[in-house]
Formats: sequence, C-alpha cells, structure tokens
Amino acid sequence: MTSRNISTYSNLPYWLSDSSFVQTINTTPRYALPTKADAVIVGGGFTGMSAAITLARAGLSVILLEGGRLGEGASSRNGGLLGPSFSKLGVDGLEKTYGRDKVHSTIKESLHAFNWLVDFIQQENIDCDLSLCGRFRGASHPSHYAGLVEQAEALLKVVDFPAIEVSKQDQHQEVGSEAYYGGMIYPKDGTLQPAKLLSGLSQIAQREGVFLAEHSMVRHVQKAGSRFTVKFDGGEINAAHVLIATNGYTGRSFRPLKRRLIPIRSAMVATEELPESVVREISPNLRGHGGTERLVAYYRPSPDGKRILFGGRAFGSGDQPQLYSRYLHDFMTRIFPQLSHVKLDYAWSGMIAYTFDHVPHIGQLDSMNYAMGYCGSGVGRANYFGYKAAQQILNLEEGKTSFDELPFKGRPLYYGKPWFLPAIMKWHDFADRRGW
Ligand SMILES: Cc1cc2nc3c(=O)[nH]c(=O)nc-3n(C[C@H](O)[C@H](O)[C@H](O)COP(=O)(O)OP(=O)(O)OC[C@H]3O[C@@H](n4cnc5c(N)ncnc54)[C@H](O)[C@@H]3O)c2cc1C
Repeated sequence: MTSRNISTYSNLPYWLSDSSFVQTINTTPRYALPTKADAVIVGGGFTGMSAAITLARAGLSVILLEGGRLGEGASSRNGGLLGPSFSKLGVDGLEKTYGRDKVHSTIKESLHAFNWLVDFIQQENIDCDLSLCGRFRGASHPSHYAGLVEQAEALLKVVDFPAIEVSKQDQHQEVGSEAYYGGMIYPKDGTLQPAKLLSGLSQIAQREGVFLAEHSMVRHVQKAGSRFTVKFDGGEINAAHVLIATNGYTGRSFRPLKRRLIPIRSAMVATEELPESVVREISPNLRGHGGTERLVAYYRPSPDGKRILFGGRAFGSGDQPQLYSRYLHDFMTRIFPQLSHVKLDYAWSGMIAYTFDHVPHIGQLDSMNYAMGYCGSGVGRANYFGYKAAQQILNLEEGKTSFDELPFKGRPLYYGKPWFLPAIMKWHDFADRRGW
C-alpha cells in the first residue's frame, strides 16, 4: 500500500455525492417557525423523521429541530446494512437479568422492526436502492464457526430467521477472501442507500405538514405545567410533547440521557470505482458482509456495483480521517489482499450510541419522550423506534414495545465521556489479532 492510496479521498460521505439523487427538501427558516406546536422533535435523523411522520399523520402539529443539516448525524453516514440486529451481548445480558421470555420477546420484535421498515419503504415507494440481497458473515477464526451455527439454531427456535451454513471450502462462492473459516448467509438481510432513505422520509414529513428546521440546535427544554418551552438557536417553541431523537449526538442540553449513552465514532471508506469483475470477486452475490471480530468490520458493494464500501471503528478523538482511513484500508487489505493497490475516494465518520446493556431504549425521562441507543445497528431500529415513540406520545396501545420495561441505566460517576474506550478498543484489537 502506498500512502497515496489513502490520502486523496473526499471527507464527504459517499452517499451524499451520489449524483443519482438530489436533495429537494424545503426547510423552514428559523424565523418563520410557529411558536406553538403539539410536538417538537429534537434531531433530524431516522428516529426523528419517522416519529414526525407518524405524529403528523395522526393530526398533530409537528416541528422538527435539527442542529445541523437534516441527516447530518449517523442517518446519512451509515453503511446501509439492514437486518434485525440480534446483538449477542444484548441477548446474553438480557437473559441473565430478565430471563428467557424477555429475550425472546425482544428478538421477535427486532425481526418485526426489520420487516416493518421494509414494508414501509415499499408502501411509501421510497427510492433508496433497497435490495433484499442477504448478508454473509464470515468466521474470522476457526473456533468462531461453531458459534455462528449455534447462534443461528438458537434464533430459529424463536423466530423465522433462517441462516445457511457455508463451509470454508465453499466460501469463495460468497466472498473473495481466504481470511474466513466458513460463515453463514442470512438471506433475509438487505442493503439500502441511507441518505436516499432520509431524503425520502424528509419529503414525506414535509408533505404531511411537518415544519423541518435546520441549524436549530436545541439548548434547553423546560417544563411549565403541562407544556414544555423548547429554547433553540433562533427562538423558542411552546409544545405539549417533546421527543429527543439525538442518539450518538446527545449533548449537554440533555444530560440525564447523555450519561446513559456511550458515544462511539464509527467510520467508513469507499474505494475508487473498480472493474465489475473485481467487485464480483469480492462479493459474488452483491450482499452485505461482516465478520465475527470483536472490533467488527462490515462492507458491501455500492448500489451501482462499482465500489466497495468498508466500515469499522474509528480511533483517536474527533474526526481524524487520516487515522481511520489507514486503519480501515489495512483492515480491508488484510481480508482482501487483492485490494491493496486500490485507492480510496471517500473517508468519513459519524457517531453511534452504545448503552450499558447493549440494547436500545425507548420511554420517558423528565416527562420528555426519547428513543436511542441503537448500538451501531440503527437503520431498521431507529426508524421503528421513532414510529413507536410517536405512538407512545399518542398514547396508543400499539405503541407498547417489549423494550419499554428495560431500565435505561447509566453508571456511577459516568457523565457521558467514555474515557475507558481507548483501552477497551486496544484490548479488542489485541484479542482480534489473536483470534480470541
Ligand atoms: C459510520 C456509521 C456506519 C453505520 N452503519 C450502519 C449500518 O450499516 N447498519 C445499521 O443498522 N446502522 C448503522 N449505523 C448506525 C445508524 O446509522 C444509527 O443507529 C442511526 O442512524 C441513528 O439514527 P438517529 O436518527 O437516532 O440518530 P442520528 O441520525 O445520529 O441523528 C441525530 C441527530 O440529532 C441532531 N442533534 C443532536 N443534538 C441536537 C440538539 N440539541 N438540537 C437539535 N438537533 C440535535 C444531530 O445533529 C443529528 O442529526 C452506522 C453509523 C455510523 C456512524
């Protein structure tokens, strides 16, 4: 690898450079916003947009306040890998604390969330390159293969989520790499273009009469009687309901939530355009991909089939593309040595939010509604949780979820700055390199 390969990229998410779609949202200037609304949504990503649509369709007046541009957060920056996201750590942890029934109900609902989003996209005719192409997960160490099989068998007892075993011998039919020791196909998973999805949701929200305001950072929310005063850069709004949909970008204005979340920077790179034969060699069936590493990497072909998009953790503080592009390029070429001379055209990052119990949370805190903590798997879940949070605001019976009673806990002396992360990342990196 020459340093030239990784130093000439754009820092813009690849998705926003996709010339096949132009963002055509007419946002409302801050000075023109109403000063009173039924509901204010804080955050213009999947969670906020999905909630805004649901509330507006129920007849509420809704204002969505976004601190930057719409989709500025993770929702226009992610890998677009779509699946039910059964986190092993979440499942194991929940089972220990709440027992098997609780685990089963959250697993069932996770699959329901995934199906719900696929149906929603299709019913609303949102052009976001949705492809139900399946996902291949490679065993990154010989001992991991048995775990994949065991996990798939356990899941199949609870939900209709089939998985197909692929031996090391046959894996070249799924992935052009010798780095795996067999793996598993999840045929139901999919991929999409996240910025197009966000754009499609924004257009629906606008059609439904939601006021969408950009550069309107919320600084303070105060409850007086039965209503809230929402102070933001540019004014204040009096609202009956407030939904906090800020996930990995939750800041000091919402300290009680911030101290329950672990913000982590996640990064992606996109290669230069490659010959079709190379993309097909990497991903013969143009699926989503990942491995079983602790510091997980995920990758997929771009929707036009011309590039490989590769994502993983970002090291260092702040957005440091020179650090994470090198790390991701190294990671990519460890799996695919044939890409070592390939140049990167894009490198970007965004914030995700982990929780201490590895499951997302939805509910009310200080009388405000919230939905967040998707632990890096939020394409399906954020959209669904936004929808459910809106139903909870509407006080609808169907708004209940199996996640409602899971207590959203922080840790003593933790205030939202995860000082312990660099050490944990280093440890996982060390363990991965030894296949532990
Ligand atoms: C690089 C990367 C790759 C990922 N890949 C995948 C993937 O392949 N599959 C998957 O399922 N998930 C993936 N994720 C996770 C997924 O993108 C997120 O879980 C999901 O987008 C969260 O949506 P959200 O609407 O809750 O939050 P966000 O989209 O992050 O939106 C929160 C918004 O709140 C705004 N905000 C914050 N504070 C304020 C305030 N005070 N006032 C006003 N606005 C505020 C922010 O500006 C931001 O726009 C990835 C994330 C990243 C960063």
